[in-house]
Amino acid sequence: MSFVFFVDNLPAFKMSRNRFLAAIARTGSARTTAYGTGTSIVCRELMEQTGAWFPEAHLDAEKMAALALTGHTVLGFDVVMPLFSVCHEAAAVGCNVNWGGPDAMPESGKPIFRDPDDIRIPPDLLTRPGCAVPLRAISLLKNRLGDAAAVCGKVFGSWTQAYHYFGVERFLMGAIDDPDRTRQIIDRLLPVTLQFAAAQIEAGADCILLADHATRDLCGPRMYEEFLLPLHRRLAEEIKAPVILHICGNTSDRIAMIAQTGLAGFHWDTKTGSPAEVRRLAGPRLALMGGISNYKLLRSTPEEIAADREAAALAEIDVIGPECAVPLATPLANLLAIVPKRN
Ligand SMILES: [Zn+2]
Repeated sequence: MSFVFFVDNLPAFKMSRNRFLAAIARTGSARTTAYGTGTSIVCRELMEQTGAWFPEAHLDAEKMAALALTGHTVLGFDVVMPLFSVCHEAAAVGCNVNWGGPDAMPESGKPIFRDPDDIRIPPDLLTRPGCAVPLRAISLLKNRLGDAAAVCGKVFGSWTQAYHYFGVERFLMGAIDDPDRTRQIIDRLLPVTLQFAAAQIEAGADCILLADHATRDLCGPRMYEEFLLPLHRRLAEEIKAPVILHICGNTSDRIAMIAQTGLAGFHWDTKTGSPAEVRRLAGPRLALMGGISNYKLLRSTPEEIAADREAAALAEIDVIGPECAVPLATPLANLLAIVPKRN
């Protein structure tokens, strides 16, 4: 057997799933702090430990689940998430994805559509490998973890999917020149997000990370308000599980808008500001995930990571973990410093 998939040595703390769900609901008499992330935790050392390597772990459900499980069994996180790349639904829709390797994340290849009328959602979307493999990995994780840890799914919003299908530049130019066309694209891609999210919930996902890369340099605050706020409101309503939005980069100009969407949580990037500032912008209702910078995970020490975790906890960050998909060269010792010793 080339990779290991043990659950017998789960950490002593058995209530991780409940802890995570209470944290993102911001409920309970005492506030709950959970640990983890809805984006990739994979680094080279975790691939070495499991024997499940990129790119196979994007395309083989057992390997994908084995690698995701280390979020709980090795790192002690309260949540695991198996969709490590940004290309799964894009592959299922028809992009010619290059799945990369142990040192390279996948890329979605050349654009495949020019006009909104070109958009065709394959009737067998969910049974194509791009969707079927992560769906199977989610159900494997759910079966093997039970209540020991939460399982998070991941989908991309229409805005980010359009980058793959139309090309980033062309799509963003269109959003300025022809807003109606942009709205058409967003509407026509919405079923991909909704179908994939519903299938993930059916497979056992407890919550969904909604990644919509409306980074500030690619999408100004007015554009967010015009195109994405209504879309995210709709997704919050139609996805039948707690949804955590992920946006890279500085989002200080839109956190207050995100707080009005009805989404359960927001996974923020430390470029936005200090944990206390982000909590102030988010207000009391929106759960917050993140607080540990990727730069520090890559370059600093376990002591610095532990100090940042304490600062995030003090500022009422509900789920403390990496701010985004961790770099593949991240030292495992730094990832291990995120969760405090619980004995
Ligand atoms: Zn990100």
